[in-house]
Amino acid sequence: MDQDTRIDLKNFTLEELTEFLAGMGKERFRAGQVMRWMYHRLVDDFDAMSDLSKVLRAELHQRARISRLTPEATEDSRDGTRKYLFRLEDGETIESVRIPMDDNRATLCISTQVGCAMGCVFCHTGSFGLVRNLTPGEIVNQVCAALADGPVNNIVLMGMGEPLHNLDNVVKALQILYMPQGLDYSPRKVTLSTAGLVPQMQELGKRVRVNLAVSLNATTDEVRNRLMPVNQRYPLQQLMAACRQYPLHAKKRITFEYILIRDVNDSDQDARRLVKLLHGIKAKVNIIPFNEHSASEFRAPTEERISRFQGYLLDHGMVAIRRASKGQDISAACGQLKGKLTVSPPAQESERNSARPDRSQGKGKHL
Ligand code: SF4
Repeated sequence: MDQDTRIDLKNFTLEELTEFLAGMGKERFRAGQVMRWMYHRLVDDFDAMSDLSKVLRAELHQRARISRLTPEATEDSRDGTRKYLFRLEDGETIESVRIPMDDNRATLCISTQVGCAMGCVFCHTGSFGLVRNLTPGEIVNQVCAALADGPVNNIVLMGMGEPLHNLDNVVKALQILYMPQGLDYSPRKVTLSTAGLVPQMQELGKRVRVNLAVSLNATTDEVRNRLMPVNQRYPLQQLMAACRQYPLHAKKRITFEYILIRDVNDSDQDARRLVKLLHGIKAKVNIIPFNEHSASEFRAPTEERISRFQGYLLDHGMVAIRRASKGQDISAACGQLKGKLTVSPPAQESERNSARPDRSQGKGKHL
């Protein structure tokens, strides 16, 4: 089948759509009309846009299209967590997860890349390597698809991929999420999680407002280098300096995700170092006990260690939350549903994989 080469309007901000329509000789206000059809009513057919003239609809048909994502598979957890697998136009797959909260509210965790180049050793997605960046349209379409299932109150960019490794498209997607004619989210409802790409963190702060989460997972460069290769380029001191400079909303804190792994990063000294590292930063620590898997060299921390670690942070005036692990009866962490639905690797390959550390937990995340 021939590929549809028409321009995908889902990749456009309001300004870009205005410019595109101006190029067709159309009035400026038409852009707002089309945007509202696409995002307020989730319409992807020009014919349904009843306040546009027939002529304009026909011209748009010729030159443009409106992409959408439809889940190829979903998995529902007993706790209400729902995982979506989307197949993209080039056959690649990505995942999003709807996480229910109290009062019928929901958070949606979305992906920003197919695979990921960061190679964190505890993460399943990292084991695929980077395949490609998602377009702005592919990022926002995950939200549109989940909205068809019910309200989405908060959005976290914490799924597959390192958002700051796809900065331009992510910034554009955030602009579309925030536009009143777009999905109309407040920046306070959207959080971006990074493994710590320092120059891009600074760039992000200049270009767009968004809450920040940092996947920390260690208190020394030695351990962090081992868990997260990005630390070799941007060690802890640089990362913490970038966090201190990040422009935060007055009432917000930076979330630090910390996967607690037995005998790797769960000691009393780690807790002490963590308090020091975060000194002077408006921080919230999410403690995520590692989930053991047969293929992993890592072990879950003991209950006693988890409470000592959390207790130390709390005693030192920090906000430290033990994250309840949601969706454990489905493929909870990023990359797992994709793993299941992709053709199994040949025997040799799976043997090789099983010898490597387990990568089934994402960015300190996820669920
Ligand atoms: Fe990439 Fe995040 Fe996985 Fe690290 S944890 S490899 S940044 S998806």
